[in-house]
Amino acid sequence: MRLVEPWIKVEKIDGQKIMKKIERACRTCYRSEGNITDDSYKKLLTNCITRGHESVLEHEKVTVRIYNDIGSYKDLTRHRFASFSVESTRYCSYDKDKYGNEISFINPVYMEDKEIYNTWKNTMQEIENAYIKMKKLNASTDMCREILPHSTAAEYTMTANIREWKHILELRTTNHVHPSIRQVLIPLLLYFKEEMPEIFGNIEYDTEFNPNYYAKLLIEDEV
Ligand SMILES: Cc1cc2nc3c(=O)[nH]c(=O)nc-3n(C[C@H](O)[C@H](O)[C@H](O)COP(=O)(O)OP(=O)(O)OC[C@H]3O[C@@H](n4cnc5c(N)ncnc54)[C@H](O)[C@@H]3O)c2cc1C
Repeated sequence: MRLVEPWIKVEKIDGQKIMKKIERACRTCYRSEGNITDDSYKKLLTNCITRGHESVLEHEKVTVRIYNDIGSYKDLTRHRFASFSVESTRYCSYDKDKYGNEISFINPVYMEDKEIYNTWKNTMQEIENAYIKMKKLNASTDMCREILPHSTAAEYTMTANIREWKHILELRTTNHVHPSIRQVLIPLLLYFKEEMPEIFGNIEYDTEFNPNYYAKLLIEDEV
């Protein structure tokens, strides 16, 4: 059994470029392309968002790759305007060399109580023992996956347009949301706030959430 930490990779973006492209598309509405200046996108986007004219944000998209527990993608895949490719528990057989012959579980660092944490950890070990035993008995991966818990680590690629990201980050970074999702999405929101303050700047998130729990955010050319 391997206990692993979550991470989120986000494709390197140029926030200003994204916002300028959205401005260009938006100005079609008013045929005001001639009013574009170096920073005219700022006022335009702020006005659009204030008035709910948000469909213009759909012209640009961002892709991320997330390594987190199955529970997190179970929740995030509910967002109908995002696209997902998720590691398959039907095809990935964790007894194979490729996976180190063991199951990786996301370490729930937010379980601070030692007794609770140890109960969780012992349960994961028992699950892994059962998974490997079933495999030795020639059970198919379809059968074995029935015992995998929410904590199982998995990778998934997620793409959404800027409007949907705004919606997802508004909903999924508050204290009502499972900690494993806050762990990956708060760092993403902070990155978007820096890159695209006119769009993401006003989104409120759970500032009480311990930053030590934040997943590592990796900015890459390709995810
Ligand atoms: C704190 C929290 C707790 C939750 N608890 C539960 C739970 O206990 N059980 C559960 O089943 N789910 C739960 N959910 C999931 C939630 O109900 C949504 O399914 C999920 O957040 C997807 O968001 P969304 O519906 O806004 O849709 P998205 O698919 O992201 O769509 C974006 C927006 O498009 C519009 N839209 C999309 N589809 C339609 C449609 N068919 N008709 C009209 N408008 C539409 C809506 O305005 C929607 O907000 C929870 C979510 C959160 C954040």
